Amino acid sequence: MSVPDKRETPEPLVRTAKDYKSGNDPIWCPGCGDYGVLASLYDMLVAHNYDPKDVVVVSGIGCSSRLPGFLTTYGFHGVHGRALPIAMGVKLANPQLSVIVTGGDGDGFAIGGGHIPHMCRRNADLTYIVMDNEIYGLTKGQISPTSPIGLDTGTTPLGSIERPINPIAMTLIYGATFVARTYSGKRPDMTKIFIKGIDHKGFSFIDVYSPCITFYDTYKTWPQKIAPIPEDHDVTDLQAALKLAMDTEKMYVGIFYQKEEPTLEQQQEQMHSESMKYGVPTMENFYEMFR
Ligand code: SF4
Repeated sequence: MSVPDKRETPEPLVRTAKDYKSGNDPIWCPGCGDYGVLASLYDMLVAHNYDPKDVVVVSGIGCSSRLPGFLTTYGFHGVHGRALPIAMGVKLANPQLSVIVTGGDGDGFAIGGGHIPHMCRRNADLTYIVMDNEIYGLTKGQISPTSPIGLDTGTTPLGSIERPINPIAMTLIYGATFVARTYSGKRPDMTKIFIKGIDHKGFSFIDVYSPCITFYDTYKTWPQKIAPIPEDHDVTDLQAALKLAMDTEKMYVGIFYQKEEPTLEQQQEQMHSESMKYGVPTMENFYEMFR
């Protein structure tokens, strides 16, 4: 009887959260909602058994943008508000990578707000997770684009007079192909949304209610309004998704909208194949084209 050669049937490597922890401990305030988001990201990486070298996490600036430093995946802690275009460049350079973008509401909706419409319409295969606490945390509590009217902060001692933006309605209107919201206090639900977001082929936008316990503690108020999206909601119905997004009584969590469309990388690849039918351009025929 021959002895089986174990080298021919290697055991599949099963990773645990330890494989994704960089060893840098988060320095967020105790109770910050971002701890929950990080924990769910570990859960999602474990669920997919990702090799850390196949994942890139890109961030901007802010408390939540520290996140890539806590992972063993590749990471890019970029400049304020510029995480999305950096991530798009990473994805186009190597479409095999799974690219996740993390940041806060100030970084994403104010400083980087101009990038959101273009990411939605281009449909690059990225997962954008916004830890939305409705305030600037790192710079010590100024109003952000999602702060509610009347919010009393150091810079608005008489209450904010600015209407907040609605990130879900905004991304739906701009044409994002996956739009969801979740709450950092519900880790299992959040992990499911992260898994669905990263599985989606195209631009996935995930707004996470993630309380800033230090400058705007919403742990008591938000859970009273947070409600799951009704089970009979049709995620392909844009009008129904907008109606849920605009509800002023409830803060719905779940998947609002999802549809399949060609990604930016697929379209670029197709364009490249088409152009190659005409051969590799030389300097001469390049000039000829524009004569
Ligand atoms: Fe979190 Fe707010 Fe502390 Fe920043 S300031 S780490 S957002 S609780």
